[in-house]
Amino acid sequence: MKKTSGFLVLLLLVTGNRAIGQRTSVSRRFPIYNNAGRPDLTIDPQRFVSQMTIVDRFFDPSGCEVQEGLVGASGNRRILRFDTVIMNGGDGDLVVGDRSDPRNLYAAWFVFSPCHGHYHIRDFSSYELLNRDRTSAVAGHKQAFCFEDSLKYDGGKSHGYDCDYQGITSGWGDWYYKQLGGQWIDITGVPEGDYIVRVEINTAGTFDEGANRYPNVVEILIHVPDPRHKVSNP
Ligand SMILES: [Zn+2]
Repeated sequence: MKKTSGFLVLLLLVTGNRAIGQRTSVSRRFPIYNNAGRPDLTIDPQRFVSQMTIVDRFFDPSGCEVQEGLVGASGNRRILRFDTVIMNGGDGDLVVGDRSDPRNLYAAWFVFSPCHGHYHIRDFSSYELLNRDRTSAVAGHKQAFCFEDSLKYDGGKSHGYDCDYQGITSGWGDWYYKQLGGQWIDITGVPEGDYIVRVEINTAGTFDEGANRYPNVVEILIHVPDPRHKVSNP
């Protein structure tokens, strides 16, 4: 049980083959393994949970968030926001490369994000809110990503991937923090109750993850407060 401002995180349910709620460091949970030189992408479950908050925000009708479909409408919206750190636990780098290279395998997947001001790989992840019976409560949106080395978990030096030449070095993570546009689910008008927050990555199967030992899905159970009550967050 973990109390955070505004709501209660009831339970951490990480799909995969590990014990639930294990209190080991993230790097020990996702050590680099022999994946035949391929990446294996997974979500840091600790940071996903620890940074989750509910905030009310105003979205201008001409803003990039509305243009990109990251909120259901303009005006005052209540959003559940969180950090997504994509970790690479495979023994090969994720190499996405430069979008301007005509030979780039992923050329068709790049899309410009007005909110972030750089190119993303489209449809990389999905952010959804489910009811307890696993039916959809909020369809959420597909969040696109630019891949770069933000945090080291394991292994050696960064190979220097950034939003121009994209990728994630083996043993490194790409951090999309909760203040970034789209790092949320728009929960405006969702009735009070318990819900499952679900994030899935590599949803379109864009990248070959080899044995894919580490999960591509993280889910937690949360309590959404009464929409008529104010939420207070930093
Ligand atoms: Zn971005």
